[in-house]
Amino acid sequence: MEIKIQRTENPKEKPDESNLVFGRIFTDHMFIMDYEEGKGWYDPRIVPYGMLEVPPSMSVLHYGQAVFEGMKAYKGPDGRILLFRPDENMKRLNRSNERICIPEIDEEFCLEAIKELVNLDREWVPGAEGTSLYIRPFIIATDPALGLKPSSSYKFIVILSPVGAYYPQGINPVNIYVETEYIRAIPGGTGYAKTSGNYAASMKAQAEALEKGFIQVLWTIGERPMVQEVGSMNVFFKIDGEVITPELDGSILPGITRDSVIRLLKSWDVPVVERRIYLDEIFEAAEEGKLEESFGTGTAAVISPIGSLNWEGREITINNGKMGELSAKIYDELTGIQTGKKPDPFGWIVEV
Ligand SMILES: *Cc1c(COP(=O)(O)O)cnc(C)c1O
Repeated sequence: MEIKIQRTENPKEKPDESNLVFGRIFTDHMFIMDYEEGKGWYDPRIVPYGMLEVPPSMSVLHYGQAVFEGMKAYKGPDGRILLFRPDENMKRLNRSNERICIPEIDEEFCLEAIKELVNLDREWVPGAEGTSLYIRPFIIATDPALGLKPSSSYKFIVILSPVGAYYPQGINPVNIYVETEYIRAIPGGTGYAKTSGNYAASMKAQAEALEKGFIQVLWTIGERPMVQEVGSMNVFFKIDGEVITPELDGSILPGITRDSVIRLLKSWDVPVVERRIYLDEIFEAAEEGKLEESFGTGTAAVISPIGSLNWEGREITINNGKMGELSAKIYDELTGIQTGKKPDPFGWIVEV
């Protein structure tokens, strides 16, 4: 398929790089492609960023049949534009699609489309320390009908947003509320898919934690609470020299940062295991002085150290509320690879 390109006639003014708020400003162009049953995906095109005109009956507005991805383009020291493991985002998009009954996309073609879009808007990739161009591919169900069934038409869209440094004031560990009432994802549910409904379902817990003075929640499940994720990040604990993260049991979002951290640790010969991990183990380890570090992982923050955990009033502080040594080493290595400042021994970088 050939991608048609319609360039904007009114390029927007670029924002101040030192003052970017996440996800508010979008570049000059977007990518769109349509799907119809019997016809497949068709009409791939890059057009000026602008409004979508949609019918109020459009199925995604009612039943939430929608999936998305989140990835970043970084400006390398030599001005090259770099993507981090973007093929993994395309694979995950198809795994999300499968769960939500959205037709499969051609992963290679969609990655080429993303590269072409980023290349067209390459002047929008900010260069200041810690900044990047956030890439948001998403798919929505577009049937103009209220019948409760998988839609027979869809749109695949990619929009781009320049984002500022996640840590403009340096990395500060966050205080976390352990959530045992609201549940993010259950076995057999949609936890492993990046589907919109998961995020709608998570907002109440997040809002209540904020009200109590915490930045994020630690998601758990079960009578004996088992740890799942932290906010919308995967979670790691370093206990007595060993790094532990919850195994991918269908309720955990398989983060690409999570996978990269596991691979990095293995390459450094740091013991790392994926298994079930219970809250009581973590609190016990903390009391015995064995809980050394804990952090969340995700594309937005890369590494977000956890300073304390509050479980029904019991509070533990991790590493005196400071970022741990291993957390810092992982952060430096990953961001170094992503921005082209460090060698890429794993072949993770794809140039636009
Ligand atoms: C996107 C996401 C992550 C992190 O995935 P990355 O690929 O590392 O960005 C973790 N948990 C949830 C719930 C997510 O939506």
